[in-house]
Amino acid sequence: MLNVILFGPPGSGKGTQSKKLIDKYQLVHLSTGDIFRQNIKDNTELGQLAKNYMSKGLLVPDEVTIKMLEAEVNKTPNANGFIFDGFPRTILQSEALDSFLASKNAEINVLLAMSVDEDELRSRLKERAIISNRPDDANPEIIQKRIDVYKNETLPVMNYYSNKNKFASVNGVGPIDEVFARLCEVLDEVHAQKNLN
Ligand code: AMP
Repeated sequence: MLNVILFGPPGSGKGTQSKKLIDKYQLVHLSTGDIFRQNIKDNTELGQLAKNYMSKGLLVPDEVTIKMLEAEVNKTPNANGFIFDGFPRTILQSEALDSFLASKNAEINVLLAMSVDEDELRSRLKERAIISNRPDDANPEIIQKRIDVYKNETLPVMNYYSNKNKFASVNGVGPIDEVFARLCEVLDEVHAQKNLN
């Protein structure tokens, strides 16, 4: 199994790159943001709850998010591995993910971060708002809130995996295919190391 956390601030291109990576490495894409948006569309109880937080740029509570993520992983027991996109976003979520995977004799192989500066993020999110129809992209205050939440609650996740020697980072600015090539270079290396062990 190859389990990758694709990590980066809102607007760093996690969704776009995840779609390309799952094709190349035959992995399952798990985006907690996408799952919440689908639940909102389907007007489920989970969707109604998530909407209250998402519309304010806040994180959905850990307990709910972790439970949902675990249920999604369990839907594909024979997966080659997963790309976790937008999860984990807190230390608690990271610890829960690690022990959940350990219970399946699996683990996170790498947290792969895409670095993009804040001005670039803001302009990307503004642009995305026009085509994505995402209300949380349309309002500059909500965008700022999401960036702040990322810095305060989510950035520590990077240190958490870095302390476990499971951290790599690439420059997330540039044409989509160039960023993709940078990500593949790291993942090929991780894959090769894994097969050596
Ligand atoms: P995203 O599409 O990853 O940018 O997520 C959109 C929104 O969904 C976030 O701003 C949060 O409100 C919520 N969300 C997505 N993933 C998580 C998570 N792992 N933990 C808590 N909230 C999340």
